[in-house]
Amino acid sequence: MTTLAPILSDIWDAPRSWTLATYTEHQGYDAWRKAIHTEPAELVNAVKDSGLRGRGGAGFPTGLKWSFLPAPDGGPRYLVVNADESEPGTCKDIPLMLANPHSLIEGVAITSFAIGSNHAFIYLRGEVVHVYRRLLAAVREAREAGLLGQNILGTGYDLEVTVHAGAGAYICGEETALLDSLEGRRGQPRLKPPFPAVAGLYARPTVVNNVESIASVPTIIRNGVDWFTSMGTEKSKGHGLFSLSGHVAKPGQYEAPLGITFRELLDMAGGVRDGHSLKFWTPGGSSTPILTAEHLDVVLDYESVGAAGSMLATRALQVFDETTSVVRCVSRWTDFYQHESCGKCTPCREGTFWLKQILHRLEAGKGTESDVDLLLDVAGNIEGRSFCALGDAAATPIKSAIKYFREEFEQGVHTPAWELFPYEANAAF
Ligand code: NAD
Ligand code: SF4
Repeated sequence: MTTLAPILSDIWDAPRSWTLATYTEHQGYDAWRKAIHTEPAELVNAVKDSGLRGRGGAGFPTGLKWSFLPAPDGGPRYLVVNADESEPGTCKDIPLMLANPHSLIEGVAITSFAIGSNHAFIYLRGEVVHVYRRLLAAVREAREAGLLGQNILGTGYDLEVTVHAGAGAYICGEETALLDSLEGRRGQPRLKPPFPAVAGLYARPTVVNNVESIASVPTIIRNGVDWFTSMGTEKSKGHGLFSLSGHVAKPGQYEAPLGITFRELLDMAGGVRDGHSLKFWTPGGSSTPILTAEHLDVVLDYESVGAAGSMLATRALQVFDETTSVVRCVSRWTDFYQHESCGKCTPCREGTFWLKQILHRLEAGKGTESDVDLLLDVAGNIEGRSFCALGDAAATPIKSAIKYFREEFEQGVHTPAWELFPYEANAAF
């Protein structure tokens, strides 16, 4: 089995792990003390050479994104951390910020310095008020210790960090909707290009990165590029947090190198709950096509999961056993996407509503003979025709579920899902 000593989660179980005192006892801010005396371009190159890919889902190379910023023109440029983690099944950034907010703040400091920014924002999902308070306290601690603010560590470099809580809209996790929301407007995606690197917050050059990506930066600066590239696979370097949920014996966050197989991760989590067998799973939350027990040995890197017909995305592995109705599961996900659709474009706004209606009919055993093909037709008209990734996210799980479990959808013409799969058998805990 591929094993790894915890890196991002190394102090999560330490007493008062969220405090500056505990973090500094474990090499906390050593990387920042080193980075602030390094040429910014050298830091950008180190992250580029490490091969770190965005941990928010899309897997875009982090260092390359930083290098897209235009040359300084004397005006402001910003770092915005996307901490709006909301994808169903995805639960890695919120535990990270709760257990060790300073690992994120150290990454924010190094990244801001590397890209020449003096003001960084952390845009947090609004519902997690406890995480908001923890981040505010950690920023205050770092500031009082001279690690943020004016003339940091006597170098003349200034950095302000603003923690902003959103109002609980999933679409504000889309980077340009997030920027609109941060500017005080209704959060709706912007047309790209221009990408935020060129015209982002207040139309200024902006790097938008996920929490885990930024928290990985200090580990690279501290341990070196070779250390990072020694983990992972050829095109998916390093390590990451994998969240296992659902019908597993020990759900939670597991840290592992990219390239671990699903089987190995499932073993780490104690396997499927006792007396049950795997039916289907998601590699990266509800917006990634589902896979089945045939795919136990899929290597969890961007390329291999893609070759298996899905996406690694946020490494949110939701595990479902044989007591689960795939129709009911997909129907709940669709309710979510329909509710969260921002309404800007027609295929997603109208299409998710239609998908929801058809799925509710099938779930209740009141479908029509043509409903399964109608589902595929509507999903096909949303996918690739929507303004942002939310539309595709709503369509892909449905298409993949029908690919593997068409018969179950067809049973929805005459039998309710709750008769085929009683709730009592399905409850995980
Ligand atoms: P994307 O591929 O459009 O962009 C990825 C990043 O690369 C963006 O920051 C974008 O600005 C940058 N980029 C891409 N091409 C560029 C270019 N030519 N020049 C400059 N920058 C460029 O993906 P996306 O729509 O931002 O994100 C989709 C992903 O989000 C999905 O894979 C999904 O897994 C993930 N997601 C995550 C959550 C969560 O809770 N973490 C929620 C929903 C979706
Ligand atoms: Fe809004 Fe959906 Fe269109 Fe995205 S795809 S812009 S969420 S309506």
